[in-house]
Amino acid sequence: MASIEKIKVKTPLVEMDGDEMTRIIWKMIKDKLVLPYLDIDLKYYDLGVQYRDKTDDKVTVESAEAIKKYGVGVKCATITPDTQRITEYKLKKAWPSPNGTIRSILDGTVFRKPILVKNLAPAVRSWIKPITIGRHAYGDLYKSADYVVKEAGTAEIVFTPAKGGAPTRVPIHEFKGAGILMGMHNTEKSIASFARACINYALSEKVNIWFGSKDTISKRYHAFFKEVFQAEIDKHQDELTKAGVEYRYLLIDDAVAQIMKHEGGILWACKNYDGDVMSDMVAAGFGSLGMMTSVLVSPEGYFEYEAAHGTVRRHYYEHLKGNATSTNSVASIFAWTGALHKRGELDKTPALCKFASALERSVIGCIEEGIVTKDLVKLVSPSPKGHETTEGFIDKVAARLACELGAKKSSCSCCG
Ligand code: NAP
Ligand code: MG
Repeated sequence: MASIEKIKVKTPLVEMDGDEMTRIIWKMIKDKLVLPYLDIDLKYYDLGVQYRDKTDDKVTVESAEAIKKYGVGVKCATITPDTQRITEYKLKKAWPSPNGTIRSILDGTVFRKPILVKNLAPAVRSWIKPITIGRHAYGDLYKSADYVVKEAGTAEIVFTPAKGGAPTRVPIHEFKGAGILMGMHNTEKSIASFARACINYALSEKVNIWFGSKDTISKRYHAFFKEVFQAEIDKHQDELTKAGVEYRYLLIDDAVAQIMKHEGGILWACKNYDGDVMSDMVAAGFGSLGMMTSVLVSPEGYFEYEAAHGTVRRHYYEHLKGNATSTNSVASIFAWTGALHKRGELDKTPALCKFASALERSVIGCIEEGIVTKDLVKLVSPSPKGHETTEGFIDKVAARLACELGAKKSSCSCCG
């Protein structure tokens, strides 16, 4: 490679390594696509399950603290151990999900965004720009209590003030016989930080925000979300106006209907359950898990980028057997470009942003030429003749990137 001057990254970037197939991909991305071009101080944290076990999971907490210190992190997919994984990796215990730990330390919201390429048409014809889902990941159904009613009786909500005084009782239903009951909650603090994370994301990506709930029916519970969200919007209205970002509140069923006719390019802020359901619908509508990125944004403006998929366990077992694999590395590469772009923006280093864009163009250029991993073969049209191996795809991207950056006159696919 002809030597080109490496771009100096002013502030360190927090790097969190991970597990299985994505750990293999991670090293290739770093060695072939990132380190040859950047003079970067990576604050490395090994979140591979064995090192988490060795440090009694302290390394996860330290990595989140590092993001608070430096502002931006990039994370490889990691195993959330269950009983089978405890045996497989001889772990001391079933450590909690690293993503859950990091999310609670940063108090962040996860945004999932698909990567679009011209030859992979979304299932919904009108979608021409990415739809990002921001899911409020606290409370409601996911922290609820339920009760199976076996006989006739009275159900009420009872609230007892901590400071003393008479409890408040709200009737729910007079049961004449068997039935079912559930109690849910949320907090003003959590809804407000969700709204602030959505505002930060929308300002960062320059996209409009939609938020939907069912306040016509749920005149207190859902209406509370609408009011708290609106209050945060009001506090940031000047910034939003300056950035050209609009906020729109819709009834959730209207939002669903509108999204099917919309061109995309928006942030769809969802309540917890809506976000769980709608993110799977949007992901499936755009194609493959290997093409879905994810970023955790905190209300304070810390950012952590990753792929939305897991460690691709089945492919890893094939890799261990010595068989060739064809795992899609696109979402992991875009985790790096997202983080580098943000670092460049915060440090005011346009050269770094340009580099991140060049890397993204190289990936998209390859796919649009029919250079794809196996998961995309059936999705892209025209149908490619074959597929690349995991490493083969990254090598093709590397060749194209070198060409884009003028690092070498190569025989990459773009210059023949
Ligand atoms: P997964 O890694 O998301 O993969 C599930 C299946 O989806 C794969 O077997 C593969 O299908 C397909 N797939 C996903 N990503 C792909 C890619 N980049 N390229 C090609 N195909 C891809 O889920 P898993 O294998 O069930 O879970 C493995 C581990 O990941 C678990 O221990 C879980 O805890 C962890 N996990 C971590 C995160 C995270 O860190 N963010 C998220 C989810 C899960 P085929 O087998 O049909 O090819
Ligand atoms: Mg879901």
